[in-house]
Amino acid sequence: ETLLELRNVVQTYGSGEGAVHVLRGADLTIKRGEIIALIAPSGAGKSTLLHICGLLERPTSGDVGIDGENAAKLADRQRTLLRRHRIGYVYQFHHLLPEFSAIENVTMPQLIAGQGQKDADKRSMELLDAMGIAHRAKHRPAELSGGEQQRVAIVRAAANRPSLILADEPTGNLDPATSDVVFAALADLIRQQNAGCIIATHNHDLARKADRIVTIVEGRVVPHTL
Ligand code: ADP
Ligand code: ADP
Repeated sequence: ETLLELRNVVQTYGSGEGAVHVLRGADLTIKRGEIIALIAPSGAGKSTLLHICGLLERPTSGDVGIDGENAAKLADRQRTLLRRHRIGYVYQFHHLLPEFSAIENVTMPQLIAGQGQKDADKRSMELLDAMGIAHRAKHRPAELSGGEQQRVAIVRAAANRPSLILADEPTGNLDPATSDVVFAALADLIRQQNAGCIIATHNHDLARKADRIVTIVEGRVVPHTL
């Protein structure tokens, strides 16, 4: 079952002489339950591709289908709603809110999406528990280890049961053992929720655990083997 479908996506920044042609007709299909690793040299367009998949950026041209809707054709307001309800983001440096506890960080996106406090708290505790960090629920990010913070970030990204999780170097700052634990946790969540996931990473060990690996060559997404 197709979750995300990019067709002939072009992204050009600037114009005329100074134009930067980052994507030049990129195609990419992600099925439910699938984890894709995106591995490419710096400057190849990884962030651009993730931002387009995450509806944070509109492409210059091309189609971006998510759950059968062509997001390229939707108004900003609808794109924002799709983003809030269907897409979760995980970043390298987690971007947790420092003033809030782990559980509050996970609850927040649910409240923003219109969920009631009680249901949001319950869901947050279940997710933290599934990640093995329920005992850290009341702690602030600064009181958590890197691996714990990253697991909170993953749980937060999954809180609204998104169809698609986009992760940019989700284990970038972690040691290999912790990185394995975090990846396993992310993979469990993806499969449990029958979501899809793109992980942009420079970490080959991590990439090998994905269902498939892609890279960007001359503005197109192509299969890659390590
Ligand atoms: P990666 O994540 O693979 O390092 P990016 O997608 O961030 O690559 O960037 C690809 C290219 O596009 C780079 O040359 C970058 O400088 C350029 N670029 C990215 N965003 C913009 C922008 N908003 N305006 C102009 N150039 C940009
Ligand atoms: P808006 O403010 O446009 O209504 P939200 O703040 O609800 O949208 O954002 C929805 C999701 O998109 C959130 O998970 C947020 O972290 C993410 N997001 C929004 N803007 C950016 C951005 N520029 N870069 C990365 N993530 C972003």
